[in-house]
Amino acid sequence: MRPLEDRLKARIADEGPISVADYMAEANAHYYATRDPLGVAGDFTTAPEISQMFGELVGIWLADLWQRAGRPDGAYYVELGPGRGTLAADALRAMRGAGLDPAVELVEASPLLRCAQAERVAYARWRDDIGSLPQDGPLLIVANEFFDALPVRQFDRAGNELIVAIGGDGFVREGRVEREVSPASLDVADALARRLVAQGGAALVIDYGHDRPGTGDTLQAVSAHAYADPWRAPGTCDLTAHVDFAALGGAARAAGARIFGPIGQGDWLEAMGISMRAAALARGAPDRTEEIEAARARLTAPEQMGRLFRAMALVAPDWPAPAGFRA
Ligand code: SAH
Repeated sequence: MRPLEDRLKARIADEGPISVADYMAEANAHYYATRDPLGVAGDFTTAPEISQMFGELVGIWLADLWQRAGRPDGAYYVELGPGRGTLAADALRAMRGAGLDPAVELVEASPLLRCAQAERVAYARWRDDIGSLPQDGPLLIVANEFFDALPVRQFDRAGNELIVAIGGDGFVREGRVEREVSPASLDVADALARRLVAQGGAALVIDYGHDRPGTGDTLQAVSAHAYADPWRAPGTCDLTAHVDFAALGGAARAAGARIFGPIGQGDWLEAMGISMRAAALARGAPDRTEEIEAARARLTAPEQMGRLFRAMALVAPDWPAPAGFRA
């Protein structure tokens, strides 16, 4: 049975073709609500699932900024789309080691993934969206592979929006993509920046994408660690698009945040001391030396995740410059 496919076909038969953005939103909402996509047995593997070093360095980055901002009271750790909660658990452990023990606010749409997150961070609070986050303290925000899952609108050369109809093995996209924009992502960047201006804090955004706009069609589907057909069996594979960091940074800057980066994930992790962290971990567990080194290489090497994945920071106007980014 394919409940989403049947439901979308009924909708299109009823209302006519839907936009690519609507199709992507429906497909991903169903996908994340019905499965844990992460890890070897799932569809894709994210940086925090590769090694604890990733989340630890994120935690150290946030704790360092908080310390240099004068250790303000009542800070919140906020994560957007926390997956299994692995990054949160690793980051919080590192933050506590640095004297920071924030309340935890997780923005997560999927009930299934909320359960997985509760196993790792039992005392967290869950939110449906950014608008419902608390308004009374600095926000220390992390979004890893969150923006790539938000819907994109696609347009042809004449400026017409591309639509999805019934056809082929399931669905067909009609038209030729010239331009892609993600209003949902820009709304989130704007909302985050406004909160940072009002409450203080910073946001670290890590995702795969491009620093300059204008790369046409980047929508893709992944299932069981291989590319799949986005227009077949919606809701059974992960639909993503490259994150347009120029647009995201522009929206956040317009709302008053200071922007640092984007830079390569590899450069950011190196600047944050991943090599030293890997050496320390290997000293504590000599039999795991090869595994630790392989994880470090996978996260940082340019031909692996080091270059295509970009790191960008949004910082409150009166907070210090963050570590790991060129000034
Ligand atoms: N950050 C995690 C998981 C990335 S997968 C990691 O690095 O491992 C994308 C995450 O974003 C999932 O937790 C998914 O359920 C969540 N998500 C996707 N779209 C969302 C939306 N519109 N609102 C809230 N969460 C969303």
